[in-house]
Order: sequence, then C-alpha cells, then structure tokens
Amino acid sequence: MTQDAQSIPYTTDNVGIPVESDEHSLTVGRDGPILLHDHYVIEKMAQFNRERVPERVVHAKGAGAYGSFQVTNDISQFTKADLFQPGRRTEMLARFSTVAGEQGSPDTWRDPRGFALKFYTEHGVYDLVGNNTPVFFVRDPTKFQDFIHSQKRRPDNGLRDHDMQWDFWTLSPETAHQVAWLMGDRGIPRGYRHMNGYGSHTYLWVNGGGERFWVKYHFKTDQGAEFLTQADADRLAGEDPDHHRHDLFEAIAGGEPPSWTLRVQVMPFEDAAGYRFNPFDLTKVWPHGDYPLIEVGRMTLDRNPEDYFVHIEQAAFEPSNMVPGIGPSPDKMLLGRLFSYPDAHRYRIGTNYAQLPPNRPRSRVSSYAKDGAMRFEPSSAARPYAPNSYGGPAADTARFGKPAGWASAGEMVREAYSPHSQDDDWGQAGTLVRQVFDDAARDRLVANVSGHLKDGVSGPVLERAFQYWRNIDKATGDRIAAAVSG
Ligand code: NDP
Repeated sequence: MTQDAQSIPYTTDNVGIPVESDEHSLTVGRDGPILLHDHYVIEKMAQFNRERVPERVVHAKGAGAYGSFQVTNDISQFTKADLFQPGRRTEMLARFSTVAGEQGSPDTWRDPRGFALKFYTEHGVYDLVGNNTPVFFVRDPTKFQDFIHSQKRRPDNGLRDHDMQWDFWTLSPETAHQVAWLMGDRGIPRGYRHMNGYGSHTYLWVNGGGERFWVKYHFKTDQGAEFLTQADADRLAGEDPDHHRHDLFEAIAGGEPPSWTLRVQVMPFEDAAGYRFNPFDLTKVWPHGDYPLIEVGRMTLDRNPEDYFVHIEQAAFEPSNMVPGIGPSPDKMLLGRLFSYPDAHRYRIGTNYAQLPPNRPRSRVSSYAKDGAMRFEPSSAARPYAPNSYGGPAADTARFGKPAGWASAGEMVREAYSPHSQDDDWGQAGTLVRQVFDDAARDRLVANVSGHLKDGVSGPVLERAFQYWRNIDKATGDRIAAAVSG
C-alpha cells in the first residue's frame, strides 16, 4: 500500500513537490559532503532563518481567539455604525497581551494588559485597541516612547530596572492614576478571561441624523474580575509562564467560551467643553455617577486560532480603522496612535498586511492600492487611479462624505490641554485608593508598592516616590514610606 492511500499525507516542499526523505540530506555517497542542489534542505534552512518577524516593541506577548459580537440593546440613537445596530451579529477577533515583556516573558508580570478587538463589519474592519485599564500613564504621544523605554531594559546591562520606572513615573505626575491602578489588585489579572477591557480613549459617535456624541467603551468580563496576588503571580511566572495563554486556549477548547458585556458611557457632544474633567484626557475616567453605563451587547470568543503565528502574531490592530458612525476625539494620545499603529505594521509584517487572514476585511475592498512586497490579492481596479473612465470605484460622498469630527482653530503651540475645573493629576487616583479599594486591597497595595520600591530604587527617586504616594493619598504614602524604611 502506498502512503497516499493511508491517512498520513506525504511530505512535500513548499510548492507541493513530494520530498525524498524526512531524515537524510543529499550526499555524495553515504559519508560524502552535502550537495548544494539539495533544494529541500536549503529551503528548510532558509525558511527556518526567516521564521520570525520582528516582535512588537510593546504588547509582544499575547494570546487571542475568534468569536462574535451580538448587539442586545437598541443604541441606534447614538451611532449609525452597522455593527451596533439592533440585533446585529458581527464576526470578530480579539488579542490580549502584556505590554513591556518580550515574547517569552511570563504572563503574570505586573503590567497593564492589551485588549485589542477587530470587528469584520459590513463597512470594513473596525478595530478597537484598548487595555484592561480605563486610563493610561501619559496624555501626550511625545512621552510614550520615553515611558516605554523606562519600563523596558537598560542599555548598559540589558536588565529591567525599577529605579528607571519610578524615576519616570515620579517626574511625570500624570502617571499617578494608572500607577495606582497598576499597583492595585487588577494590576495582575487571574487570566485574560477574568479582566475587563476598556476602549480607554474617548471616541466620537455619529447617528443616522448626523448628531454627535462622545463615548467610552467598557467590556465587563462575564467570568468575573479576578486577580492574582503578587506571591501567586511570582510563583506562576516560574511554574507556568504562559498561564494566561493556556487559560484562554483551554477554556475555548474545552467548550467554555468566555464572554464580555459591552457597556458604554455616552456624553452629549456639547457637554465636553464645560465638563469638570477634560473628557479627552486619557489619564482620567468619567465617573459613572456623571455618565452611567448603557448596555450595548455581548462579545463571545469561541474559536481558537488554528495557527498562532498566522492569526495572532500577524494580527494587525490599528485604532485608525474606524467605520462610518465612529470617529476619533481630540484625545492627543489617540491621534498619535492613529499614525503609529499602521506604521508599526508596515515595518513589522509588510506593506500588504491588510491582506493577511486575520486582517482582511470580510466586506468588499475597492481601493486604488497596488503592488508592494507579498501582495497576493489582485488589484481591484483595472485602471489604478481616480478618477478614471474604465469603471473604477468612485467615493460615495453623498453617503460617506462627512468626516466624523469637530471644529478646531487656534495658534500652533506646544502646551498641555486647557485645564477643566477639577483637573489635577492626583484626585482620581486618590478616589480609587480611598473609595474603590477596601482595607484588604489597600494592604495589598502598600505591600505591592513597597516590595517594588525595595527592589533597586534608592536616593532621590525613592524620596520622590514617597511624596508621589502621599499626593495620591497621605495615609497610604506614609504607610509605604514606613514599609520601605522599616
Ligand atoms: P464607581 O464606584 O461607579 O466605579 C468604580 C469602578 O472601579 C468600577 O468600574 C469597578 O469595576 C472598578 N474597580 C473595582 N476594583 C478595582 C480595582 N482593584 N482596580 C481598578 N478598578 C477597580 O466609581 P467612579 O466611576 O466614580 O470611579 C471611581 C474610581 O474608580 C475612578 O477614579 C477610577 O480610578 C476607578 N474606575 C472608574 C471607572 C470609570 O470608568 N468610571 C472604570 C474603572 C475604574 P467593576 O464594576 O467591574 O468591579
């Protein structure tokens, strides 16, 4: 019986030609040299050398799955986006990640988690690229690279360095809210299934009548928000460094698809100018008491990728993918990200990344783009320019011509946002520590921070760290100083 007739397929090279052996290279006699014309062994070695694409500079270690988003409420008065219309179900992909660690780093390091979603809508791909935290460390994209450098490795010894982290944080008071969040229980989720996701930025929604609203997205885990203590996380970092990836994959494979309920906060367009906090400042939340949560629908992840590299490593999320009915806001961090994500993908996986399986839209593409490395979809226009008289696509400006935007004018400056009446860097962080954390959570916060500070932070940076925490909450700062000094 030949192997064809059995269930095991015969090995081929990359173009389907049957190979002669899985075991032996082509040699001159049994003991002679390997021949250069052994195309198969050369192909294997060459492909192996090129197996890696550059890892993401941030969010390198992750896990993800496919699923769908089901609308459960009627919110069409706020947006005309097709994926949010009543009853609509949209196929989607999610990728969760840590931020500062490299591809092989433990999942349980204390770090924010990425919460990146890709929806395959009727009007193209919509990406919502958020985190498991509603806020972020900085509010201007010119500080992002510096912030990330402070969290990653030192040039001289190649080590991560707590002194560097606290040096940056304490010199940048806008980090206080996110640092308080990170050092609290939710700074190490039990797994990806057990954390909330937030769009974090404020976005613009536009309804069918052209009315505009500011919106914040909250994906609440239906599994319950659960965390790991520092001690459990440290243990798991050694015993099961891929803990989060395991947990997600095995839950889906075992028939327990995780889900999240999407709720949004909606602010009338005109409220923004007079709101007590700058509603576009990424270091602030909108208190629920001001803008309550409104249910939208449920996302369920029920299909593991059949190939991690193809579907998750090559997934290219970009906040600039916004569909009709959704637009950006004046959040400076968001506006910076609209450039930096597509730029990262062009560098990391190539100019035609949008044609790869996880990224390609499920709706029609009629663009004038052409050529470029690894392009495999034929050009959709017979004549690659607009306008043309050979039936090429033409923008439907009557339907899609009005940008989702806002009025803006003024001198060019390099200055912080204009402050609103209650804007400061410490207030919301203090609210979190005093009003959301209970006594036991505050005890763990003090232990987490003092443990972190005892590991390589000294001199003026340490003194600034004590003051930073006293600014957030005097009693907590005093306890941290005592725990470190005692
Ligand atoms: P609320 O009492 O209405 O909400 C408090 C929020 O804190 C809830 O969303 C809750 O999430 C979340 N939370 C609970 N435990 C933790 C934790 N260990 N770490 C981080 N978040 C936690 O208060 P406000 O809306 O007035 O906000 C008060 C403070 O709560 C804010 O300053 C902010 O730090 C924090 N917060 C606020 C959010 C917002 O969008 N308003 C979102 C998340 C945090 P859950 O309901 O899932 O338990």
